[in-house]
Amino acid sequence: MINTQFNIQKNKDINLSNKTIFITGATDGIGKALSLKTANLGAKIILSGRSKKKLESTHDEIRSNKDCIAPSIALLDLETADVESYFNLSETILKNFDKIDGLVHCAGILGDRTPIEQYKPEVWQRVMHVNLTAPFVLTQALFPALRLSNNPSIIFTSSDYAKNGKAFWGAYSVSKFGTESLSQILANENDHNSMRVNCINPGPVNTKMRLAAFPAENKEKIKSPEDKDILAPYVYLLSDASINVSGKSINAQ
Ligand code: NDP
Repeated sequence: MINTQFNIQKNKDINLSNKTIFITGATDGIGKALSLKTANLGAKIILSGRSKKKLESTHDEIRSNKDCIAPSIALLDLETADVESYFNLSETILKNFDKIDGLVHCAGILGDRTPIEQYKPEVWQRVMHVNLTAPFVLTQALFPALRLSNNPSIIFTSSDYAKNGKAFWGAYSVSKFGTESLSQILANENDHNSMRVNCINPGPVNTKMRLAAFPAENKEKIKSPEDKDILAPYVYLLSDASINVSGKSINAQ
């Protein structure tokens, strides 16, 4: 992972009006916080997740600010959706939106933390599917809508465990190495056009995934998903301030 330090604006002057942004994992943690933040900055958000009820809850929170544009909902279970569902979604989006300017992959699962020797193949498959294969298929399916934007931005969410294969982190770590690779390949394949593709490693964030990974950790010492340091690199990469920034891997903290 390239650790590039950017002079990222802390969202002060950034405006995302006229941007349509598709966010996975919009029902919890970083994806939900980012959905609220980008909606407050004027973007039209397509909230994606597997739970209709939780998506409606994010929708309603956004709508509690009357200045925000009403978000849309894309119900998609990344574990069970077949390839056809992704392309049906793509068609629906092309019918209902002029373009997509941003695609942010926030959804993810942890899987087991256990030695490879004992790692259950079915858990391995599920983690690799949700964290790596599904973002690949979704990105491919949304390419036609992204190509309609003048400056499309794709953002993958990486991890500290994409840098070193830490013992017991199994499929999660492997999927995040793969995420970095997928992001770099896509960036290189599009270096001749306006599509930019980057990875963000948020670092430790106080979410349900973090709680599952480190139950005994002192939560007060960890940033919340709403913290400006966590969201600033996402907002920056979604905004026109980052035009020409591609193929990077950014540490949020
Ligand atoms: P959370 O567990 O809080 O949120 C995960 C999100 O992914 C939820 O919205 C969840 O939906 C969604 N999701 C899980 N499975 C599926 C599925 N099958 N289909 C659709 N959506 C699904 O995690 P975080 O916010 O912490 O994680 C966000 C990203 O950040 C992940 O990629 C994670 O790997 C990464 N990350 C997190 C760190 C941290 O310290 N928190 C550190 C480094 C990286 P639902 O609400 O239905 O459960």
